[in-house]
Amino acid sequence: MTGIARLALFGHPVGHSRSAQLFETWSAKSGPPLVYQPVEVRAEQLDAALERLRAGQWHGANVTIPHKTLLAARVDELTPEASRAGAVNVIVRGEDGTLLGANTDGEGFWEGCCATLGEPVPAGLALILGAGGAARGVAEALARRGREVRVVTRAPQRAVRDFAGLVAGCLDWEAPELESVARAAALVVQATPLGMAPVEHLAPPLPIEWLERALVVDLVYRPWETLFLRRARARGLRALNGWPMLVHQARLAAGLWFGIEAVRGFLEAAAEVESRDPLRRSA
Ligand code: NAP
Repeated sequence: MTGIARLALFGHPVGHSRSAQLFETWSAKSGPPLVYQPVEVRAEQLDAALERLRAGQWHGANVTIPHKTLLAARVDELTPEASRAGAVNVIVRGEDGTLLGANTDGEGFWEGCCATLGEPVPAGLALILGAGGAARGVAEALARRGREVRVVTRAPQRAVRDFAGLVAGCLDWEAPELESVARAAALVVQATPLGMAPVEHLAPPLPIEWLERALVVDLVYRPWETLFLRRARARGLRALNGWPMLVHQARLAAGLWFGIEAVRGFLEAAAEVESRDPLRRSA
């Protein structure tokens, strides 16, 4: 890319996202000149937004709630990760207007957890709560590393199809075996919006006393510490929020748009954004 790169975030809602702050801080400190524009796109407006992207209004885009799975069928090509996950969170526009769909959520989750822990994500059974677009990316990254993954969802029959080849089983919240699966889990990933502002008072209906040793990762980072994370920490479990995943999926997206060499200063910019975040300071 030459000149000022124009990037978009397609979603509904997009107001909660911190991506613009991350990319613009990076650009100001050490990254390429860019403008990052959150764009409210409802499902019925998605095709029109993709046409504007093809026509060159933006050089690339991030995708968030609720379009990640819809987009997998609407781009021209998918990376292997996006194809296996059936979910897209990054679109790379080619010079000729073709659109490549990529998934950096899963790898961002993995790299963000490892970087924060200073060691690999614990081996053993992984339990993912929720079966949306983020859950698919995380399941793909874990499955690719040979991890056994189970998903808890309100719609297990649909999830069995959506997560085919990625998970060893899909349970509903009332399943009798959920307790023994939770007790055995080495990793629990909270991938529902329960607990995210403005529903901070909610948590997924998984009794925290069922978790005996799991690392708990809540993909939500607004609030900085969700009710579910508070409960996990009070029980003495190791627990991470969604910020490391956000930072690393964004760094990987920047690598796809600008080239890997360009993104060296990205983590420094992310640390600056984190240090001035009022949510973090009040947590
Ligand atoms: P999504 O596609 O809307 O999926 C969320 C899933 O949560 C739904 O598919 C649903 O699964 C489950 N769910 C929703 N409401 C529920 C309820 N009341 N009770 C039980 N389950 C419920 O959203 P997403 O894109 O996967 O995002 C999920 C969360 O992760 C959001 O809070 C988002 O902000 C966060 N996220 C964080 C990052 C990051 O970088 N940190 C990246 C992506 C997403 P079932 O219908 O199957 O039950």
